[in-house]
Amino acid sequence: MSDSKRQPKRYAIGNWKMNGDRASLSEVAIVAKAAKQLNRAEAMLCLPGPLIATASDFELSLGGQDCSPELAGAFTGDQSATLLADIGASAVIVGHSDRRTIHGETSKLVSAKASAAWAAGLQAIVCIGETAEEREAGKALNVLTEQLAASLSDGVTHQNTIVAYEPVWAIGTGLTASPYDIEMAHTHIRQYLRNRFAYGTRISLLYGGSLKGSNAAQIFSVPDVNGGLIGGASLRANDFVPIMQALDQT
Ligand code: PEP
Repeated sequence: MSDSKRQPKRYAIGNWKMNGDRASLSEVAIVAKAAKQLNRAEAMLCLPGPLIATASDFELSLGGQDCSPELAGAFTGDQSATLLADIGASAVIVGHSDRRTIHGETSKLVSAKASAAWAAGLQAIVCIGETAEEREAGKALNVLTEQLAASLSDGVTHQNTIVAYEPVWAIGTGLTASPYDIEMAHTHIRQYLRNRFAYGTRISLLYGGSLKGSNAAQIFSVPDVNGGLIGGASLRANDFVPIMQALDQT
C-alpha cells in the first residue's frame, strides 16, 4: 500500500448547528461545486436534519449533527442514525460540546450513539475537548484521556470514526487554541489512539474552535491535524471554501 493510503484522510467538515433554511441550500450548491476541485481533502457539511434530504441532490458528503443511541422506537423528538443514512448522510457528529454542555450528555451516551451510527452505516465524528476551567487547572490532557476512554468503544476503526478535538472555550468564541496547544493535544490524542486501536495512526483527527480562512493554513500545518470541524465559518460558502482549499493545499 502506498504511503498516502496509510495516512489519515483529510476532512473539512462544516457544522451548521441550528442555522440555515431551504434558501441556504444555495450555499451547499457552491460548496459542492468547489469540493469537486479538491485533490487531497474531502469536504462535508453537517446540516440540520430536515435539510439533508434535499441537499443530497448535490454531489457532496453530508452529515447529521446528533443521533439517538437507539435505531427506532418510541423516542419522540429524537433522530435515528438509520433515517439519517436513508436520507443521504454518510456521517453524524456525536458528543459535540453543545450536546455535552446543554443536554448533559455523558461520554457513555456518546459511545452508544457512535455504535448506533456504525450500525446504520454512518461514520461517527466523535467530539472531545476540555473547558476553560479544566485547562486553567492544568487538567486538559487528563480530561481528553478520560473522554477518549469512555466515548470510544473497542469497535472504533479508521473507517468508521473521526475524532474532533474541540476545546470548549474556543468554540464560537473567536478564541483559537495556539498552534502549540493544538499540537500538544493532538500528539496526546494520537498517542492514545495508536496505543489502543490497531489502525490508530490512520484515524482522522480534526481541530475545531473558531477556525477561519485567516488561520486555517497555520492550523492545518500543525502535526497530526488532519483537518477541521468548522462552525460559524461553514455557514457561508465564501468563508468555508477558502478553508477547504487551505486544507487541500497544506
Ligand atoms: C463547532 O461548532 O464545532 C465549532 C467549531 O464552531 P466554531 O467554528 O464557530 O467555533
